[in-house]
Amino acid sequence: VTSQVVRLLQSWRRGEAFFPYWASRDGSCGAIVDGIEGLIGDTPLVRIRSLSEQTGCEILAKAEMLNPGGSVKDRVALEMVREALADGHLKPGGLITEGTAGSTGVSLTMVAASSGCRCRIAMPDDAAAEKAALLQALGADVRRVRPVSITHPGHFVNVARREAAAEPGSALFANQFENLANFRAHLRTGREIWRQTCGRLHAFVSGAGTGGTIAGISCYLKSQNPRIQIMLVDPPGSSLFNKVKRGVLYACEEAEGRRLRNPFDTITEGIGINRITANFSLAQVDDAYKGTDREAVEMAAYLLRNDGLFVGSSAAMNCVGAVKAARTLGPGHTIVTVLCDGGQRHLSKFHNPDYLRQHGLAPECTGRDLSFVQR
Ligand code: PMP
Repeated sequence: VTSQVVRLLQSWRRGEAFFPYWASRDGSCGAIVDGIEGLIGDTPLVRIRSLSEQTGCEILAKAEMLNPGGSVKDRVALEMVREALADGHLKPGGLITEGTAGSTGVSLTMVAASSGCRCRIAMPDDAAAEKAALLQALGADVRRVRPVSITHPGHFVNVARREAAAEPGSALFANQFENLANFRAHLRTGREIWRQTCGRLHAFVSGAGTGGTIAGISCYLKSQNPRIQIMLVDPPGSSLFNKVKRGVLYACEEAEGRRLRNPFDTITEGIGINRITANFSLAQVDDAYKGTDREAVEMAAYLLRNDGLFVGSSAAMNCVGAVKAARTLGPGHTIVTVLCDGGQRHLSKFHNPDYLRQHGLAPECTGRDLSFVQR
């Protein structure tokens, strides 16, 4: 105590603020994290009040939009880069390439900068212009290519793969669909959910894009309690619902992946696939629901109206899935899902009233009623 008082008086005489000495032994007032990596993960689990009250279940969601890159993909980018640096596939100063039109490019570019690496993102030139502009502002080398089938060498994923192959030993093709660092990143998300709920949860619900989220979280939660139900919610145009229902979740369906999902099948971005990726093949899924674009649009408007939550399309679809799971399980259960990103990145489509009107999807519901979620 005496030494604390002496330090306090000394700092006071030096004209420094002395509050920190009261706050803690090491002089810090709160958590200090080391660099951008320290800001990734450990997101809060938010209780969605309106959905909880309406369903009689506790509906909880991981607020992944609070990651520094604004989405759940920060976790994946960090793990892919960390593992590649650790095993020597990537050298400091090296190049990271990825084919993506989504959030992964943003996350990779930020993590690459912090690790002293460069990032090159190949994307189709029909992707929203603001996405390319954002990536360029962050410092990525953006290659916009003609949209072609995945079987074509000019497909953006194949371009990214070739560019990394051209610099063997120093470049990494991140390959989020097949790279199991994605799955491992989400084992951590699963552990966070387990700890935040003190293990008191009955179900987890999510869509799948690469499958990393649902695979990592399901494996962690089932390892702690195999009775926790894992539900997939699948948008139009995706074939995962049928695969889960038929119980055929194995990689030899890869051939089907040659038929890429048509981007016009759904307004949701980032979820829905027609093949079993390496990441998805590890998921332990008990049941599946179909979700429609109208349900996702209505849910996003509902969450904004009732909870002040501004979420992206996949997050809205996940909440649709959570309501369906609440109806299946009945009141009194705790259901967890993921808010993958915020609405800000969806202003040109999903949150654009003109776009929605043109596609007959303008939200029509008002109030707190959840009848727009189909049975
Ligand atoms: N939401 C958004 C916005 C995404 O970018 C993705 C990834 N494509 C997902 C959801 C799906 O997550 P996962 O890839 O882990 O299945």
